[in-house]
Amino acid sequence: MSQYLLSIDQGTTSSRAILFDLRGNIHAVRQQEFPQHFPHSGWVEHDPEDIWSTVQDTCEAIMAEALGADDQVLAVGITNQRETTILWDRQTGEPVYNAIVWQDRRTAEYCKTLKLASHEPWVHSKTGLLIDPYFSATKIRWILENVPGVRERAERGELAFGTVDCFLLWRLTGGREHRTDATNASRTLLFNIHTQQWDEELLELFNVPSSLLPEVMDSADDFGDISAAGRLNGTPVCGVAGDQQAALFGQTCFEVGMTKSTYGTGCFLMLNTGDKALRSEHRLLTTVAYRLQGKPTYALEGSIFIAGAAIQWLRDGLHLIRNACDSEPLAEGTPVDHGVYLVPAFTGLGAPYWDPDARGAIFGLTRDTGIREIVTAGLQSVCYQSKDLQKAMEKDGIRPTALRVDGGMTTNNWLLQFLADILGATVDRPSVVETTALGVAYLAGLQAGVYESLDELAEMWRCDRSFAPAMTKAHRDRLYDGWIQAVRKL
Ligand code: ADP
Repeated sequence: MSQYLLSIDQGTTSSRAILFDLRGNIHAVRQQEFPQHFPHSGWVEHDPEDIWSTVQDTCEAIMAEALGADDQVLAVGITNQRETTILWDRQTGEPVYNAIVWQDRRTAEYCKTLKLASHEPWVHSKTGLLIDPYFSATKIRWILENVPGVRERAERGELAFGTVDCFLLWRLTGGREHRTDATNASRTLLFNIHTQQWDEELLELFNVPSSLLPEVMDSADDFGDISAAGRLNGTPVCGVAGDQQAALFGQTCFEVGMTKSTYGTGCFLMLNTGDKALRSEHRLLTTVAYRLQGKPTYALEGSIFIAGAAIQWLRDGLHLIRNACDSEPLAEGTPVDHGVYLVPAFTGLGAPYWDPDARGAIFGLTRDTGIREIVTAGLQSVCYQSKDLQKAMEKDGIRPTALRVDGGMTTNNWLLQFLADILGATVDRPSVVETTALGVAYLAGLQAGVYESLDELAEMWRCDRSFAPAMTKAHRDRLYDGWIQAVRKL
């Protein structure tokens, strides 16, 4: 008989179920994609029934195909695309509208009016966030204002709001548990990260009735037993965290200064700041990293919109490479001082610039510039943007120490060496790169008594390869200065 922890990883484009053994090794993975809906320019929706059915299917498949008759799942963890907003009827369980996805920009104008009315500073000091369509509150308000009858039903207490974790928990427990965890709550713009409570003033500002809101639990907690998922019935859900926070946990970045950075389509860097919620003066977000036994640990977060997507563009837009991995040998044969800077501001610039109107550019072209230099510049742009975030974090008061990386781009060794060089910091790649799913497996395992302590988890982290900085400071500064000049010229 073997024992496992099951992670449900509900992402933006697919749902996955992953079984881990108790040492944190992957035993099996099942994945299903689901449709994206773009009803208008800038709008992005998911059908909540697709979210639910792909979670059900992947869980059922993994239980049927990867679990022996005597094997046992001790506990389930849920990690999810963050901020995505669902409202549903408490009686029937039916959503009143599609899920409005984190990427959706339909509330941009409304956010502008709130900023013009000077609400951002006080909202920021309570939530650690900026006023932006990205977060849940203005999406909830949009549904209340625009779907006929919904505001009245909400006022009568007939509806529930949840981020995706909360909706899934509600469905998995047959409609019994309306709960979320502190990391997901901290992305709604309605949650005071200092008091760890839903905030009356914020609810009033966004005109959201408190009857909609779920109970906020620790990230490792007794969320409820599953009763609507076949062979999983009776298994407790013991861990919940938003995807980036789960990755920080899976990377076991438990000490102040420890940082994880996920390099996928975009890049999300998260720095553990311990029991202090640092207020960023450089437009980084302050967020709950995890909450254990009522005690929140905070993080600073910076996001870069375009990381791997720049390599996709070099491949699919410019046809300079056939596969993303071709970028590595090309860069290996190119001196880093080629003088070309690619600024991939295709959709504006994220932290710390937050310039939605910026657009991309390539600088420093000469007659002998070729494919190698442009592709290398694409990889380097990801590292320079990481440096921007490192600098902003330093100015906010904490210098990131070790950087633990994950995500699809991190198979590229050249990229990670240049990243170490430009940051002047060691970059570590773990042997298990499914850190998001691993993070909630760990949270669930902690609550279920599989693990005793964070120290025990930290000892289980294994390094696949470590990249030490090998560039002189003068060289690094000169290269980075070129990047700063390029961004200024946009
Ligand atoms: P996401 O989870 O955001 O969909 P992944 O973590 O799967 O993304 O990473 C995929 C991204 O990584 C793609 O944008 C791709 O261009 C990039 N990528 C994959 N392999 C490499 C590589 N060897 N070198 C550079 N970029 C890569």
